[in-house]
Amino acid sequence: MLRLAGMHPDSIVDGPGIRFSIYVQGCPHRCPGCHNPETHDPGGGYEADSEELSALIGKYRPGIDGVTISGGEPFEQAPALVPLAGKVVEEGLNLVLYSGYSFEELLSKSRQDENIHRLLEAGWLLVDRPYLLEERDLNLAFRGSRNQRLIDLKASLAKGEAVEWTGSGNDPARM
Ligand code: SF4
Repeated sequence: MLRLAGMHPDSIVDGPGIRFSIYVQGCPHRCPGCHNPETHDPGGGYEADSEELSALIGKYRPGIDGVTISGGEPFEQAPALVPLAGKVVEEGLNLVLYSGYSFEELLSKSRQDENIHRLLEAGWLLVDRPYLLEERDLNLAFRGSRNQRLIDLKASLAKGEAVEWTGSGNDPARM
């Protein structure tokens, strides 16, 4: 079972295009100035079934460009998210993941944790690193502080190091 804080079926701020956004519950990072402090408590929110969520996304399928999983910290719930991420990819939708961990930290974790590995592999873009209040910038696309990056996951996993997304290409939903 997933633990969620909420969802938004047609978000335009959580990645390119119109996105079905899922916000998971529970975050260990506790960034000062976080806009979603209600998502921090891992015991808060509500339980959701991955298959029911996949079916719900399917109903919005014609009107969305992709799915975003944000938080909270998605990678704390990797085992429950892997089946959902697989369905998203099967449906031909692209997947954007947010994390307070850096790509490098997640890559290191993925060597010991198959679910983190599979979640990274299912993703198209990763918005990584914690929100830093002192680097807050309201003009950035899809992120809140300048230290955060838009990572092209396919290119980064192939290279074994972070490759920042240039804003075009490599979208599995358009290939
Ligand atoms: S990682 Fe995201 S949800 Fe977690 S505390 Fe930082 S800004 Fe908030």
